[in-house]
Amino acid sequence: MSEENWAGSWTYHAPVVRPRTLEELAELVTGHRRVRALGSRHSFTDLPDTDPDGVLLSLDALPVEVAVDEERRTVTVSGATRFAALGEELDRQGWALPTMASLPHLSVAGAVATGTHGSGRQVPSLAALVRGLEGIGADGAAYRLGAEDPDLPGSVVALGALGIVTTVTLDVVPSYDLRQEVWLDLPWPTTTEALDAVLGCGYSVSLFTSWRGDAVEQVWVKSRADAERPDLSPARAADRTVHMIAGADTAAVTEQLGALGPWHHRLPHFRASHTPSAGEELQSEYFVPADRALDALTAVRGLADRLAPLLLVSEVRTVAGDELWLSGAYRGDVVAFHFTWRRDWDGVHAVLPLVEERLLPLGARPHWGKVFTATREDLAAAYPELERFRELRARRDPDDRFGNAFLDRLL
Ligand SMILES: Cc1cc2nc3c(=O)[nH]c(=O)nc-3n(C[C@H](O)[C@H](O)[C@H](O)COP(=O)(O)OP(=O)(O)OC[C@H]3O[C@@H](n4cnc5c(N)ncnc54)[C@H](O)[C@@H]3O)c2cc1C
Repeated sequence: MSEENWAGSWTYHAPVVRPRTLEELAELVTGHRRVRALGSRHSFTDLPDTDPDGVLLSLDALPVEVAVDEERRTVTVSGATRFAALGEELDRQGWALPTMASLPHLSVAGAVATGTHGSGRQVPSLAALVRGLEGIGADGAAYRLGAEDPDLPGSVVALGALGIVTTVTLDVVPSYDLRQEVWLDLPWPTTTEALDAVLGCGYSVSLFTSWRGDAVEQVWVKSRADAERPDLSPARAADRTVHMIAGADTAAVTEQLGALGPWHHRLPHFRASHTPSAGEELQSEYFVPADRALDALTAVRGLADRLAPLLLVSEVRTVAGDELWLSGAYRGDVVAFHFTWRRDWDGVHAVLPLVEERLLPLGARPHWGKVFTATREDLAAAYPELERFRELRARRDPDDRFGNAFLDRLL
């Protein structure tokens, strides 16, 4: 039977197979003309898919590894590990990640393959924490890329195109506590006049908006235990737990109201035990250079009425720059403009060109794991190292074993 992605927005064309050993994995790679790795299935399009006569490899039956190197301050973790499990184990050992995505349900290898990120002006994406990768290459042989390997910056945000990643080595920091507070109704004039200060008023800050009305509906601020409590007045501090999607179950969100708690229970917006976000949805996101953020904000607000029928909520957050060739934050800090849409594929594809018409000229780069309508030419203009990535791909996968329709269409 055909299997679907998490949102039910894509049905995979090939069967999903779960190798139990690296030898089995290598045989599956060389035994098929086309092969792709599947993570926790949280991307929204055909990105992970392969040809109908190919095979999708889910690595969740491989042996699990979580090994902290205290001297190097890294953790080496099997690719299929979910961030929820990694967070619990790191915290137990006194260690932490500097960032997490909005949900802890993602697999580590799948998240870094698309440049997945959280928020924070000084905080880079999860992909930027990668110090090493191990995997099975197109020839079925095991490979290892260390921190100094010149191929590493091109091989992290690699869209599954360079190999099946079996372990990922990530930077860790000593464990820390955070408090999460939500502020309600930050007037738009305050937001636009002090955008930089608002986005920087905590360790990790997210604006949630419908783009309509006089105010940003919610500002979620995650602050380090020793930081001063931000004052976002004239916004009001929420006195009860809120969900960013109107009417959704507040039991699904991580603890708010300023209660201190461990990093992995505050950085994600959603609890591991609950369904994150809305479930039946699509998502899009664009990374805009930080110095064009206000222009982008104004441009998207101008579309508020067109977006409203499809939009569940938008999130605006920040990501620090990195050196990864296909990262949305390659060589510069960015502000990310995210859209959680109703699951209306045609409707979303009809409004995205309007959004992109305004954001791409500002230097925006689409999130690889979400829905966009940007073309091959748009992507070539937005991602300056795309040609270098193509060369790397030709060297590492000369027979295009890890290719698929998404990569054929866009790279
Ligand atoms: C509710 C929800 C909230 C989200 N929140 C955020 C967020 O806060 N920030 C953000 O940036 N994104 C967010 N996303 C998007 C999500 O992080 C990305 O789509 C991510 O890539 C999904 O990881 P996955 O493990 O599900 O990978 P999949 O969707 O299964 O695969 C994604 C890509 O990774 C590749 N891949 C997977 N495993 C491997 C492997 N072992 N080796 C090589 N390649 C591999 C696949 O081939 C594919 O190309 C969210 C998505 C959802 C559904």
